[in-house]
Amino acid sequence: MEVILARREDILGALDEGMGKFGGTGNFVVKKIPFPEIFDGAAVVDIKSTGICGSDLHMTYDRTEAEIIPGGHEVAGEIVELPKDYKGNLNLGDRVAIDCIGAGKSCNSCYFCLYGQFRHCINRHEETGGAFSSFITRSPNGLFKISDDMDYNDGALVEPMAVSVHGFRFAKFTPGDSVAIIGSSTIGLSAICVAKAYGAGKIIASAKYEHQAEAAKKMGADIVVSSEEGELEEVCMQETDGIGIDVAVETIGGRSNLSLAQAAKCVKRTGKVIVLGGFRIPIEVDFLQPMIKEISFIPATCYANIDGRHDFELAVDILSNGKHPYKSIVTHNVSLENIQKGFETSTVTFCIMVAFFRGEQGVSNFV
Ligand SMILES: [Zn+2]
Ligand SMILES: [Zn+2]
Repeated sequence: MEVILARREDILGALDEGMGKFGGTGNFVVKKIPFPEIFDGAAVVDIKSTGICGSDLHMTYDRTEAEIIPGGHEVAGEIVELPKDYKGNLNLGDRVAIDCIGAGKSCNSCYFCLYGQFRHCINRHEETGGAFSSFITRSPNGLFKISDDMDYNDGALVEPMAVSVHGFRFAKFTPGDSVAIIGSSTIGLSAICVAKAYGAGKIIASAKYEHQAEAAKKMGADIVVSSEEGELEEVCMQETDGIGIDVAVETIGGRSNLSLAQAAKCVKRTGKVIVLGGFRIPIEVDFLQPMIKEISFIPATCYANIDGRHDFELAVDILSNGKHPYKSIVTHNVSLENIQKGFETSTVTFCIMVAFFRGEQGVSNFV
């Protein structure tokens, strides 16, 4: 195969220069940064679209020092370089979504990698920079082709879809089970889509904002309630003749224990709580009730290869299904140069997801 070497000159990247300068929404400065290190066995991808997600916002809020390499992990782009000895199925020019955190950084040969649990690789490659930039380097093992049905914005949605795919598979979800989804932001909405795709029974979701409630219905939730304490719990009991829901999916995380407590109340005795939300500080949880109810709490993070297929591949399958409603959650595009505006737009309530975009066609709402 002909190997065209990507030009190694400096590229544009967005670095958050520190805490609170813009009232907690970060202070992104777009400037020339060194080309990301092309480690042994790395592929180079020309980044076309990157989502700004809740965890990016959290990290931005929490930052105490200026960034030296860019973040960004919901990414799609075009392969421009493959390792010289590469023998897999990928080609230059392929459009891919990237598992930046697990397979893309993994050694592919340690104990955990051999089990497909790349997130837990014990010989991970050093961080070479995330996707708020114009190029990224990762192992080809973490690159997954997107289908002709998908544009690059759809490609950036593979990651948040894969998070829910992973949660459901890791927890050994059983088709027919009723599901309560706590929260209807990017991950909550993907959890609804995955519940639907994997044959859930009734799907009940909670949503904080009206536009999220509308989106939750669009994704396939049968019932959507507000995030008021007690509401979801009550509907879950009503809809199951007082038994409780089979599976609750917590997608909020943050700094409060309320969503976990709520999940434990919604779920039936012997039920499961899949925990997808990232908790930023230690939180207190009453463990007596879950213990008496024999509830399984199943924290799930990132993605893996389970039963021979990576969560990203299954996420691509779901998004390749015609005009899948999840594709509509990217409501705004910004240019990389304008990424600060993207973060500010992400924090206002009328938008679900912003992606920075360098592809040929974005959504029309360009800010
Ligand atoms: Zn994310
Ligand atoms: Zn490994």
